[in-house]
Amino acid sequence: MQHVTLNNGVEMPILGFGVYQIPSDSTERAVTEALTAGYRLLDTAAAYGNEEAVGRAIRNSGIPREDLFVTTKLWVQDAPAQDNARRALETSLAKLGLDHVDLYLMHQPYGDVYGQWRAMEAATGEGLARAIGVANFYPDRLLDLILNNEITPQVNQIETHPFFQRTADHDLMREHRVQHQSWGGFAEGKNDLFTHPVLGRIGEAHGRSVAQVVLRWLIQRGVVTIPKSVNPDRMAQNIDVFDFRLTDDQMSTIAALDTGATLFFDHRDPEMVAWLSQRRLEG
Ligand code: NAP
Repeated sequence: MQHVTLNNGVEMPILGFGVYQIPSDSTERAVTEALTAGYRLLDTAAAYGNEEAVGRAIRNSGIPREDLFVTTKLWVQDAPAQDNARRALETSLAKLGLDHVDLYLMHQPYGDVYGQWRAMEAATGEGLARAIGVANFYPDRLLDLILNNEITPQVNQIETHPFFQRTADHDLMREHRVQHQSWGGFAEGKNDLFTHPVLGRIGEAHGRSVAQVVLRWLIQRGVVTIPKSVNPDRMAQNIDVFDFRLTDDQMSTIAALDTGATLFFDHRDPEMVAWLSQRRLEG
């Protein structure tokens, strides 16, 4: 497994396993299969409702804690966010059955963002999270957070796939040493990604699937990726991407597929801000 080094020196696998939309009663089995397939980075969130199942799979695996990289996320917290965010992290740790996470992400750029960030800075200082970061921050919000706080986020996890490549975001993150992490690397199959003719032709040239081409493209851009699958064959296929390389021409061909637009939702859309902010979680 290839790793990236975060801006605080922590090493993070460049490829991991995402558990969004896996029902909690299937998550333990899926994570167990993913760990058997060789995944060591697990990406969950308080909002996914499956932290306990992820924790059970970790405990039952017998894999030493230091060999795993576990990410969870803080849901939107109101002021006083410093107290609320601290309680939310303690709740996540209790559900996961861990005394620390490797990465704690602010899930959305909403609510008392500064209060949330200060709580996360304090938590990492106490060793409850080895690294802290954000998700769904567009460049303006990210730069504001960087310029007005002590700790520069180690990671920004954003929608990134061949149809929405985030090149300006990527460049800004590079400049400030924030690791770009992709969510929805397959665009959840939207735009017929898995049967896309251009990606298919590149795959044929390497004897690889479209999924493998997409993951390889992300890795060669230096983007951390966390494909989700409940299918063991696909889990195995998705981690088997370290023994081939896309050519510069193939990278340029994929670069031309960028539409510059989200296939999900824009976090700057007032309707989305209202909807996501109303979706409060307990604890
Ligand atoms: P994704 O990884 O882009 O796509 C998952 C879909 O692709 C599933 O339907 C899966 O089906 C299918 N798939 C997986 N491997 C395949 C293969 N080799 N061939 C064909 N189909 C394949 O979607 P995602 O789950 O939304 O994103 C990945 C992770 O990012 C999430 O699990 C979560 O951890 C994180 N995420 C974060 C945020 C955020 O706001 N921070 C938002 C969304 C997601 P099967 O399961 O049936 O194989």
